[in-house]
Amino acid sequence: MTLERIWAGWRSAYVSGVAQVEPVPGECPFCALFNADVPDRERLVVHRGDTCVAMLNLYPYGSGHLLVMPTRHIAGLDELNDEERGELFNLVVDASRVLQKAYGPDGMNVGANLGRAAGAGVPGHLHMHLLPRWSGDSNFMTAIAETRVLPEDLATSYAKIAGAWAQ
Ligand SMILES: [Zn+2]
Repeated sequence: MTLERIWAGWRSAYVSGVAQVEPVPGECPFCALFNADVPDRERLVVHRGDTCVAMLNLYPYGSGHLLVMPTRHIAGLDELNDEERGELFNLVVDASRVLQKAYGPDGMNVGANLGRAAGAGVPGHLHMHLLPRWSGDSNFMTAIAETRVLPEDLATSYAKIAGAWAQ
């Protein structure tokens, strides 16, 4: 499925604010980003814990789309150690609070796609999605036109979410 993006405002944020990290073929894009010598801001990391981080999705399905993941390269839930288990879910809960405060959405999708068959874009590195939702948001558009509308650029999302997290 090809998704055309109607609104390309995010491209300028991508160029100006985000580390340009090209994974070598076969390398995990998340690990490439974590290993790059850049500030967390340029990784779009809004919060860093001891074992896990919360970061903006570089290719958001909608405003405020966050990813929470262990920094360690593991694919499955059953590979999480005790510390990662606790912190991963704590960060998911914290992130949902932050998104509620920053965006006031009507609802939220929270979950993980495990394996390519389940829709994971990066199946080798476990990550959970949090996506704020509004009544009547872009589902309709996606369904009829395979087009996603991005109402907000990444720099704005980052400022909003990192600010709310710090409060
Ligand atoms: Zn990885």
